[in-house]
Amino acid sequence: MVEGRAAEAKIVYLDYNATAPLRPEALEATLAALKTVGNASSMHHFGRDAAVRVDGARRQLADLLNCSPGEIIFTSGATEANNLALRAALARGGALVTTAVEHPAVLEAGRAITGGEAGDLVVLPVDGDGVLDLEPLHDALNQRNVALVSVMLANNETGVLTDLAPIAKAAHEVGALVHTDATQYVGRLPLDLAELDVDLLSLSAHKFGGPQGAGALFVRRGTNLPHRPLLIGGGHERGWRAGTLNVAGIAALGAAAEAVRRNLPSEAARVSELRDKLEAGLTTRVSGCQINAARAPRLPGVTSVTFPGVPADAVLAAMPHVAASDGSACSSGAPSPSHVLLAMGRSREDADSTVRFSLGYDTTAEDVDRAIDAAAAAVEQTRLLMAATAEQ
Ligand code: PMP
Repeated sequence: MVEGRAAEAKIVYLDYNATAPLRPEALEATLAALKTVGNASSMHHFGRDAAVRVDGARRQLADLLNCSPGEIIFTSGATEANNLALRAALARGGALVTTAVEHPAVLEAGRAITGGEAGDLVVLPVDGDGVLDLEPLHDALNQRNVALVSVMLANNETGVLTDLAPIAKAAHEVGALVHTDATQYVGRLPLDLAELDVDLLSLSAHKFGGPQGAGALFVRRGTNLPHRPLLIGGGHERGWRAGTLNVAGIAALGAAAEAVRRNLPSEAARVSELRDKLEAGLTTRVSGCQINAARAPRLPGVTSVTFPGVPADAVLAAMPHVAASDGSACSSGAPSPSHVLLAMGRSREDADSTVRFSLGYDTTAEDVDRAIDAAAAAVEQTRLLMAATAEQ
């Protein structure tokens, strides 16, 4: 159990898709960088020290992704990376083709940039398992001048993985660029950018044990794009964005990337087993519970579970010692149901009765046992309360 979270009255943390606990290596790198006062753009000793930390992190991240350090633009997170990618790739006109299950940082940014479905935006549907059908993609590519296809590598709510190879092939055949939001994938499964034929890829440090507020955009060498920074100022990161670099955040991102790389395949297998154990426990102990996208290829550490007729917020409130999420944390608090589950054909009621558990590097078998016990008791208690209220 990570220090700090352990202190929180032994709360089992199963919300890694919202944010993963900071890895000790990332904390150490943050503190070391914060102790140096240099601006990475300054030429003196302190500036050079900062620049060395940034260059080191660029190398560490490039090693994790198997790309060149020169292909990485550090950003404030995946939201900025997604926005920069879309703005640049759509700057010369042409349509955006994306999917109904993207994070708002793609879907809403895409709507704003293209003028929406009435303009140059095509939003592709998914099937009941959250998987994209290739036929509408081919239709869209044949019917329009498509500048960019943006499809996420792994969904934040369900963990459903995308087979990007045929999508990228079809897009490239008509001269469109390919972007993927790999925020939930990086650090959870091995990724090789020498193999994965994308032009642009977004990621965020805080999903794999780095800090919040640091991320990156991969731009493949030779991709000739105009820069469209979101903030106007000094031309940092080769003109892609403006603002003094977040040296401590970047150094910590690099340290987290290196820590992840050490045992990625074995860790993915371990977390996947724990997720299976959680699903087996929940389906055995809670009558009627359904695992969303169970038949689709998924990330190792996430499960989206519907407890039909039982509101997710009530279940979560009844298990205060388990930190999980109703739908996606990014839209928690918003009254609208999960657009991802709706796109998969689930009803609004089912979407409102869905809890996402996401596991990660610090999750243990004991955590999973406690979560199963807590969730079973919470659903039971909520059902009893609802029945008692209905009788009154
Ligand atoms: N894309 C996906 C798939 C995400 O899960 C998230 C974070 N919830 C983001 C983008 C936004 O990332 P950030 O917090 O770094 O802006």
